[in-house]
Amino acid sequence: MHSCLHNVSRILEFCSHLFFQSSNQLNKGVILKNVQHIFFDLDRTLWDFETNSREALLMAYEHFGLQQWFDDSMQFIKKYEAINDQLWALYRKGQVEKSVLRTKRFGDTLKQAGCLSEPVAKDLGDFYIQESPKQKKLLPSTAEMLEELNDHYELHIITNGFDEVQHFKLENCGLDHFFDVVITSDSAGYKKPDERIFFQALTKAKAEAGNSLMVGDDWNSDIIGARGVGMKQCFYSPQIEMLNDRTDEGLIEVGHHDHMVDFLKSQR
Ligand SMILES: [Mg+2]
Repeated sequence: MHSCLHNVSRILEFCSHLFFQSSNQLNKGVILKNVQHIFFDLDRTLWDFETNSREALLMAYEHFGLQQWFDDSMQFIKKYEAINDQLWALYRKGQVEKSVLRTKRFGDTLKQAGCLSEPVAKDLGDFYIQESPKQKKLLPSTAEMLEELNDHYELHIITNGFDEVQHFKLENCGLDHFFDVVITSDSAGYKKPDERIFFQALTKAKAEAGNSLMVGDDWNSDIIGARGVGMKQCFYSPQIEMLNDRTDEGLIEVGHHDHMVDFLKSQR
């Protein structure tokens, strides 16, 4: 009797699995049809953070005469990037303050090269913070994508960053006119993936989570955050070669902005 009941429950479980699988298949691909609002992350999604950072580091290398400490600018940049990554990992764990990180990443880079000057590290840190937002390199097809999407959707920004800096970057790159609402963690008082920053952005844009798509490069901040409030998600990572259609979960994954544009076009 017991094993008979067990079998029945196994069969029911299997049937419900089949049912959900087929209803998901039906939903697959059509779920982005009702999107009216697209919210973008800024750094590493539109603004080419890596290239712009390296450009500012190169300027710093020249400005501070760092060739006396390093074989060449690439050696300086590579050392800095490795140290910066380690310090960011500590920052995320709450083990180092941002104000400390800003100077220490340069102090440690110089120390490794035998230069022990604290004032130079501080000036380098300030120079970098000042110069990097002035760089204008965008990720491939960013302007073309925004131009194309602007005719069909309301476009907005949700970014973790300082209000002044992020607004300056948008204006400096000539992107500001594309966006209706720009929310920074600085102005919102909350950082992605905190749901409150998403809700603030949705309210300000007069959008519903259900008709909104979040596009970003950070799995936790952008994708998990957006999913948590019921927005659709587009994960952007240049490593992805082909569009990955996971619309049964409300998600697509792309390695190129064109792929997202084409997919959205196929949905209209
Ligand atoms: Mg980002």
